[in-house]
Amino acid sequence: MPLPRLQFAHFMTYDELTAFVEELAASAPGVVRLRSIGDSREGRAIHLLAITDESTGPAEAKPAYLVHGNIHAVELAGTHAALFTARKLAAEGRKSELLKRVGFYIVPRINPDGAEFAVTTSGSIRSRTDRSERAANTLYQEDVNGDGLILTMRLPHPNGPFVSDPKDRRLLIRRTRKSKPPFFRTLPEGMVHEWDGTDHIAVEGRSLDWNRNWSYDWRPEPEQWGAGDFPFSEPEMRALAEFIFSRPNLFGILGYHTGPNAVLRPPSTGSENDLNEGDVRIMQELAEVGAEHTGFPVIPVVKYRRDDARDINLRGHFHDF
Ligand SMILES: [Zn+2]
Repeated sequence: MPLPRLQFAHFMTYDELTAFVEELAASAPGVVRLRSIGDSREGRAIHLLAITDESTGPAEAKPAYLVHGNIHAVELAGTHAALFTARKLAAEGRKSELLKRVGFYIVPRINPDGAEFAVTTSGSIRSRTDRSERAANTLYQEDVNGDGLILTMRLPHPNGPFVSDPKDRRLLIRRTRKSKPPFFRTLPEGMVHEWDGTDHIAVEGRSLDWNRNWSYDWRPEPEQWGAGDFPFSEPEMRALAEFIFSRPNLFGILGYHTGPNAVLRPPSTGSENDLNEGDVRIMQELAEVGAEHTGFPVIPVVKYRRDDARDINLRGHFHDF
């Protein structure tokens, strides 16, 4: 049975993802095993691919490397990158010297619920939006006109930050001091809950960022936006953390995101001087391999805003954990 083809024409729904990982495991016996690290909040299995040459032992018996993707709902390319990695390893299979010595754990979509919302609606959320208690004057994203998509709406507003693009009126560009009205603000397609008629409209209720839900230097909201109720309050992050804690053979972890076109490395808080010097050296050296392949620079997360002179501190970040 040939390995499944990885198409790049569109992002995958959960069912497409499931079919792909099932086929990959079925087509690479003795190399790829499909498991689950637990269930998402909405009950979707969080797929795990364990990849190694089992003729020299299972992944658990070897030093192992973990790859996860798509912790942020709209960063669907992370799933594709993780599947590309898995498929490449599976294609090398028993011919690979690496797989004789090393195991790979690949979780292509750690946030299957958020990704499903993003891929099926084009709506935008960070990791999860808590809609259990709806707040007044708050817009909740919804496909209002039934075209299957959550698009962006423009509204004329004297203080709006956008003007329409003279080259293509369908597009909006940033307003400058020379711009002439009409000005526009934007809102995602949706319904405003208990609207009071003013233009003070918030978008979505409480947003959770699962890359702020990890235990190292976790801080509550609002000190750290998106942190959640406590470290690992989100079942998907708890499942991943428990998986990591139960695998003392892990020596490295990589998360796939779509952010600032960079290979990001620790620290996410504080100063580089707080870290072990040898650790920094080896992380930098490994990150430079990524930089060679991508052409992106290596930057510590604290320097994430490259155009800003100030360092940032992202508390409860996976990197620091
Ligand atoms: Zn991200």
